Amino acid sequence: MNRQIFKVVISLFVLMAISTGLKAIQINNNQKNELSEYKTIVVNQEEKIKELQNVETIIKDKDNQIDDLIQEQNELNQLIQDLKQSNEVLNRQMSSLTDKVVYLTFDDGPSKETTLDILKILKLYNVRATFFVQGRNVNKNPDVLREINKQGHAIGNHSYSHNYTLIYKDEDSFWKDFNLCQDAVYSVIGESPTLYRFPGGSNTARNFKGNEFVTSLSIMMLDQGVQFFDWNIDSGDAMATYAEVGTIKSNAYTQISKKKDAIVLFHDTDAKKSTVEALPEIIEHYLALGYRFDVLTPSGYTTQFKHVD
Ligand SMILES: [Zn+2]
Repeated sequence: MNRQIFKVVISLFVLMAISTGLKAIQINNNQKNELSEYKTIVVNQEEKIKELQNVETIIKDKDNQIDDLIQEQNELNQLIQDLKQSNEVLNRQMSSLTDKVVYLTFDDGPSKETTLDILKILKLYNVRATFFVQGRNVNKNPDVLREINKQGHAIGNHSYSHNYTLIYKDEDSFWKDFNLCQDAVYSVIGESPTLYRFPGGSNTARNFKGNEFVTSLSIMMLDQGVQFFDWNIDSGDAMATYAEVGTIKSNAYTQISKKKDAIVLFHDTDAKKSTVEALPEIIEHYLALGYRFDVLTPSGYTTQFKHVD
């Protein structure tokens, strides 16, 4: 190879080397640019991550606030519930203080005519009453007793015989008579009475055998779940064979006075036509005074004559 050619070859190599170097420098610059762009992207992303972290913190704060609000709401609901309950208790107390109740009671039946007429009147006024029946009359008129029971009235024991000297002779005689009436009622309606009324009232029993006799009997009755009842309003319908309608009404009106609970004494033997006649107006009178009507129950209101020495 001559010298000239050698120079050209060398020059070519030099040019190739320079060209490769320039390319390498260019690539390097490109990489630097890319790196710088990546750095910018990373910085931007880091800022975004920070922003997102901030948003997350805000969301967590909001969540906590919502939890607090839910808890507050639950506490308020509980408070409302408590207030409602105490309001109901107060309403019940208020109504028990202002509640005025009349317990109509009919003794000595059941009878065919009078009792059935009374049942019609009670049904008409949608009023429930208590029937203190004599066992011997239950045996005579079982259908009437069945009707009393069917119409939702209360049934009490008022002795079997209503014979004072027999019933108030001694405790054995009393219980014999008492149980005869319990059995008579049970045989008709399948339930024994848990209410009792002494024939003539507890004072008549006291007049015959003294206060201890009545106390002992009433304790033994309570042992069997039976409560005894006297009355605080006497309609006076047994004061005469035929009591005047006006007298019965007048007794019922004047004796109610301002009583909160009133047990009214009536009779429903066949002879008591004036009782039937007076009853509708008496019911209307009591309704107008704001009373409601109810049946006697062994654990409910009772009135018992006090023993006087
Ligand atoms: Zn009687």
